[in-house]
Amino acid sequence: MTQNNAILEDNFGRKHNYLRISLLEKCNLRCTYCMPAEGIVLTPKKELMTAEEIVAIAKVFVNKGVDKIRLTGGEPLLRKDFPEIIEKLSLLGAEISITTNGILIDRHLDVLKRFNVTNINLSLDTLVASKFTTITLRNQFEKVIDNLYLLLNNNFKIKINVVLIKGFNNNEIIDFIKLTQFLPLSIRFIEFMPFAGNEWDKSKMVSHNEIVEYVKKHFSYTQLEKLEDEKNFTARTFKIKGYLGSFGIISSITNPFCDGCNRIRLTANGRIKNCLFSNIETDLLTPYRNGVALEKLIAFAIKNKLKTRAGMDSMEQVVNPDLNQDNRSMIAIGG
Ligand code: SAM
Repeated sequence: MTQNNAILEDNFGRKHNYLRISLLEKCNLRCTYCMPAEGIVLTPKKELMTAEEIVAIAKVFVNKGVDKIRLTGGEPLLRKDFPEIIEKLSLLGAEISITTNGILIDRHLDVLKRFNVTNINLSLDTLVASKFTTITLRNQFEKVIDNLYLLLNNNFKIKINVVLIKGFNNNEIIDFIKLTQFLPLSIRFIEFMPFAGNEWDKSKMVSHNEIVEYVKKHFSYTQLEKLEDEKNFTARTFKIKGYLGSFGIISSITNPFCDGCNRIRLTANGRIKNCLFSNIETDLLTPYRNGVALEKLIAFAIKNKLKTRAGMDSMEQVVNPDLNQDNRSMIAIGG
């Protein structure tokens, strides 16, 4: 890393080349593990970044060494100016990807293709229509499945995010893996994480080890193959021998991957969160609107990143509601 982009390096030598930008707080689903039952108080529109502001702030990061940008939310495809944002961001030269619930993919397929947004993370927690309605409180299962196949037929690289919740979808682990037999999908099982108002409880979480044991029981040792994990991985990856696709486990709770973390988050109201679990935010939007240069603020936010899960180093800490509930809801962070 050169002097120029040293502002993206923290005190533990981690280099942050991956920026996740939340485009908005609104969503067209109401996933119960993500959004509190009573909803959230939305930030007034004038306090959210405009398309121009998103691009200008992203440009500061790209100039300093960010080369990957992921757009998330809320639901990023709900933004009316999504095509404009993609078009302008694509000129910065960083690789752009999105995390979406898939409902509006068909509406934006041409834009995604035109601007080379080929990596899509699609969130889908169940393969059963009635359970989809139970967890999302919306009846959109068929739409999501149709759009998944639309993406596959158009050769997008797709990762499916599955938040596992005991008693809800842990009995679908094998069904999800079987999808990878003939489809080039990467399934990522995510340990359920605690955020404000999402009624997290450790007993509802399916851990990395439980998932591996469950898969081994079904497929046997010889069929399960450990793959080499990506650089700066979040998922520990596996495949079933002979299957086209793969699967991985994102174990932020039982087996965090903070040592290789290269991610910074920008909320829809223009604040840096240097860790998903951190409740400390650095406002970039207000200074930007006041003509202040952002580099020092970015450097400050990154330097202050703590070693593991925003200071919740141990399991005792992460399961403590006094600590884990003192954060925004996931819907307002952008996962
Ligand atoms: N609306 C988009 C979507 O559905 O993918 C993007 C935003 S959503 C907050 C991003 C990701 O965060 C989704 O894959 C979702 O499953 C994940 N997520 C939300 N709440 C979570 C929680 N409590 N634990 C683990 N993952 C969570």
